[in-house]
Amino acid sequence: MSNPYRALPSVDRILQHPTVAPLRGRYANGRLTEHARAVLERARADLANSSRSPANLEELAQAVVASIEALDRPPLRPIINATGVVLHTNLGRAPLSDATRSAMDAAGRSFSNLEYDLAAGRRGSRFDHLGVLVKAVTGAEAGLAVNNNASALLLSLASLATGREVVVSRGQAVEIGGGFRIPDIVRQSGATLVEVGTTNRTRVSDYRSALGSASAVLLRIHASNFKIIGFTEQPSLSEMRTVADEGGTLLLDDLGSGCLLDTTRYGLSREPTVQDSLADGADLALFSGDKLLGGPQAGIIVGRAELVAQIGSHPLARAVRPDKTTIAGLAATLRHYLLGEAETQIPIWRMIATSVNALNQRATAWRDAIGSGAVIEGRSMIGGGSLPGESLPTRVLALTPSEGASRLADRLRSGEPAVVARVEHDSLRLDPRTVDPSEDEAVIGVLQRALSP
Ligand SMILES: *Cc1c(COP(=O)(O)O)cnc(C)c1O
Repeated sequence: MSNPYRALPSVDRILQHPTVAPLRGRYANGRLTEHARAVLERARADLANSSRSPANLEELAQAVVASIEALDRPPLRPIINATGVVLHTNLGRAPLSDATRSAMDAAGRSFSNLEYDLAAGRRGSRFDHLGVLVKAVTGAEAGLAVNNNASALLLSLASLATGREVVVSRGQAVEIGGGFRIPDIVRQSGATLVEVGTTNRTRVSDYRSALGSASAVLLRIHASNFKIIGFTEQPSLSEMRTVADEGGTLLLDDLGSGCLLDTTRYGLSREPTVQDSLADGADLALFSGDKLLGGPQAGIIVGRAELVAQIGSHPLARAVRPDKTTIAGLAATLRHYLLGEAETQIPIWRMIATSVNALNQRATAWRDAIGSGAVIEGRSMIGGGSLPGESLPTRVLALTPSEGASRLADRLRSGEPAVVARVEHDSLRLDPRTVDPSEDEAVIGVLQRALSP
């Protein structure tokens, strides 16, 4: 019997193959050879482990191209979000406004005064850039931006409560998602967690009796992704303020989403705003940049000036400091609120504000273009650790292909661009609310290709 390994071509022959040869100028010297060697090695291993006939030159050449191109592709691919979940953490939360993207691009393109006081010609602080704007839109005394809200909480507690106690209602000592657990964060900050009350009911008296000389912070955590219903009780923030004053502790409010607008205007229940939190007596309010604020990933700490200054000078602040593009993007996003144009300029608020009528028209246009499906009533979710369980009425395009909804969903995900939709009751539901109107044509194209036999 002839040696099957003999049948495999050499590295050189693969590199000279017409599909591989044109790539030789594109990649750094030796890179392509490395991939060809690896592909050949896999082919040899396959031969040793199976009775299959050896891969031919054509297959091996294609494998080399696929392997190097996979490396060359940007890791983040654009996705059309037809799930109807406005803030989808897995899909990158808030898409950014035009002005925000321009500002981030500009900050990345040139040198800047990130840590430079231009007037004085000496070193400045990156933490100084957003203070004025944050104050203007939230009414806070001072503000500070870090990497994300998880680090805002960690940094705040490390600065204000290390070696002392942080008092939290048992119903709020929760996991927010992605392994972000309040008890772990408190422990990592060097503070001790004191849980009060029960899972469903915590009273003012529970907080009061837990406070002692070691207590540093009363912490309220927004129940971002769950809802306790029925026999429940939780003191208001103003009631917690009273207890904090009696016990001589600080009151911190982890708001999660950082809402600045009145959500009842859109038929949603009232999401506590940053302004509410400060007005009700929080010493500090903490929130994300990329949830209901609608900007880049960040954590924002607002409140009393001397506390913000103390937090900004803690050694950990250096470890969670924001990037220059984040600072530029946050400023551009906050500016939309300053100008009263958040609802028209910030994509997530535009989505939330879209009327059912407009959604109906777009879902109908999708259906007409592909010539199948039905436009039916549905619910869009807010998601992203805000307004748990809240939804908005919408109209969705429902498709019930004979192959089954999940097979069609698979094909939409492998479309160009990828379209992610929801499968419900054996039908595929596409919600136009979370699709930018500029993407309608792309959605129709992907649907047409996925549905054509
Ligand atoms: C989402 C959330 C966080 C974490 O915020 P990131 O910006 O994702 O780090 C913290 N606390 C609450 C209440 C949240 O909802």
